[in-house]
Amino acid sequence: MTNIVVIGAGYAGLTTATRLAKRTAAKVTLVNAAPDFVERVRLHQLSAGEQLRPTPLAESVRGKGIDLVIGRVRAIDPAGKQIDVDGRTIGYDTLVYALGSVADDHGVPGVAENAVPVGGLADAVKLLKLLPAKGTVTIVGAGLTAIETATELAETHPGLHIRMVAGHAPGSRLSDNARTHLGRVFRRLGIEVRAGARVAKVLADSVVLTDGDELPTDLTVWATGFGVPRLAAEAGIRTDHSGRIVVDETQRSVSHPDIYAVGDSALVRVNGEELRMACATGIPMGTYAVKAIAARLGGHEPRPFTYRYYTQCISLGRKDGLIQVVDAMDRPQRTVVTGRLAALVKEGIVRGARWYANR
Ligand SMILES: Cc1cc2nc3c(=O)[nH]c(=O)nc-3n(C[C@H](O)[C@H](O)[C@H](O)COP(=O)(O)OP(=O)(O)OC[C@H]3O[C@@H](n4cnc5c(N)ncnc54)[C@H](O)[C@@H]3O)c2cc1C
Repeated sequence: MTNIVVIGAGYAGLTTATRLAKRTAAKVTLVNAAPDFVERVRLHQLSAGEQLRPTPLAESVRGKGIDLVIGRVRAIDPAGKQIDVDGRTIGYDTLVYALGSVADDHGVPGVAENAVPVGGLADAVKLLKLLPAKGTVTIVGAGLTAIETATELAETHPGLHIRMVAGHAPGSRLSDNARTHLGRVFRRLGIEVRAGARVAKVLADSVVLTDGDELPTDLTVWATGFGVPRLAAEAGIRTDHSGRIVVDETQRSVSHPDIYAVGDSALVRVNGEELRMACATGIPMGTYAVKAIAARLGGHEPRPFTYRYYTQCISLGRKDGLIQVVDAMDRPQRTVVTGRLAALVKEGIVRGARWYANR
């Protein structure tokens, strides 16, 4: 019996494991560092104080014929076709690498000591714990995760002064209509934006910019994007500079054909463009990888992975949102949906992603 091991039970890994168990006769083992499925797309809600319902992975896999191992993968030995999980060796015929991503400090001094990153569950719990009752919270970054974090904090904690600091304006890759709505929401929530700024270092009570300006702050939140675990690179699997596994058009490692990669830790190109890190891309990668693995187990060559974008869905607190319609290559179009309707659509998508990965 073929032995398939999936490492990482986020959106992409769990989608892969549950469907591999349904669609193939292989023995499927799922390894994850933590016992619960973490809805990362809701972590800004948790950091603002909302209680999230945990989903134990044991429940997600119950009755599905998946062996669940809770433990941290410490190393991969591609030559020996085995992984080390907290000192225990687990062998594989096929490995699916789905370790996701973590906050990236981009090497800026003082971030590790003086800022709270936005990335994983522990970060969100820490942010909630350190959130001051009043004063200024400086969010560094202006991408979608930074926008979601800023608006969530501002809406839930109206007594706080939220300031966003970044090189570009929030939503600079969105359409004019979307940016107009963002501007309205930021004014309503009293969010200050300091664009065109680069952070040189973070101190305990200020953020120092490269132009010498020093912005006093009671808490700094680092939300400038994600990096990925280094395990694949350390194992000699071909990765890009950041550590994402380089895959072919069937999600298979270009250096190790018995390893597939899905989700944030896979470097996937469609029509020459890299897919962005998102559960919106990770879940389809997982669904596709199952088809590719099943096809090869059946002695067939799978059709290449295809993907097209439809929307970017951004929450702006619990009562507002922004659905940006995009073309197949993720370029924003004029159409946007805003307000409560957009918030409802976004909530539906988030629930749908959790349901799909767990089913
Ligand atoms: C606040 C926030 C808001 C976001 N909003 C959106 C959004 O609106 N839309 C969207 O598409 N994306 C959003 N994202 C990004 C999205 O969450 C990620 O792109 C998505 O979770 C990636 O899925 P994944 O399965 O690749 O990885 P993850 O969901 O990160 O899962 C990886 C899993 O691997 C496990 N793991 C890691 N290392 C090890 C190890 N060594 N051993 C064992 N297990 C390990 C982790 O515990 C985790 O369970 C948001 C992210 C954040 C933080």
